[in-house]
Amino acid sequence: MEVLPKLIVFSAPSGAGKTTLVRHLLTKEELNLAFSISAASREAREGEVEGKDYYFLGTKEFKNRIRANDFLEFEEVYQDQFYGTLKDEVERLWAQGKNVIFDIDVVGGLRLKEKFPNRTLSIFVKPPSINELQIRLKKRKTETAEKIAMRVAKASTEMATAPQFDVIIKNDDLSEAKALAYQTVLEFINKKVSDG
Ligand code: 5GP
Repeated sequence: MEVLPKLIVFSAPSGAGKTTLVRHLLTKEELNLAFSISAASREAREGEVEGKDYYFLGTKEFKNRIRANDFLEFEEVYQDQFYGTLKDEVERLWAQGKNVIFDIDVVGGLRLKEKFPNRTLSIFVKPPSINELQIRLKKRKTETAEKIAMRVAKASTEMATAPQFDVIIKNDDLSEAKALAYQTVLEFINKKVSDG
């Protein structure tokens, strides 16, 4: 049985620290990972780069791509803010023989697991508490107060989906969370799966 490329999905409420964990794993060459660049309807924030952080499509183009059935999954993560994984993106990375790592919302994460049940490891990153999440988002200073409130409100429903994931990583202590994420992903990547 050959070792097929895998999907490693990190999902969590905004501010839980999943991006930090994903970036950490990407530095580990032996995992042979490549980051799936999502499409987003929103505008780039300062410092974000087109084709590196996201493919910034704008709302009109994003909706055209939905109609063209170009997405593996997509979500209106926040009101009028669409995010999605393009089929082309994953195929491009698989063609390079890479395992693909995703930093996406909980609904998108579970959808990918459903589509590729054997090949996907779904990981939920749990923040210490909703209160801590709010503090982290405020410190990050990337969102307005209104947007932070929106993200915090959504976090409670997102937290409730945690048991549906293969693995839950509690992010109280970052170095412990990094070590656990590495070990879990390494084991999964070395596992042989037939298909799906
Ligand atoms: P941000 O605006 O902070 O970059 O991202 C907002 C949320 O959208 C995050 O929770 C992020 O994980 C999620 N997200 C990013 N890309 C995708 C994607 O391709 N699909 C889905 N479903 N969610 C995504």
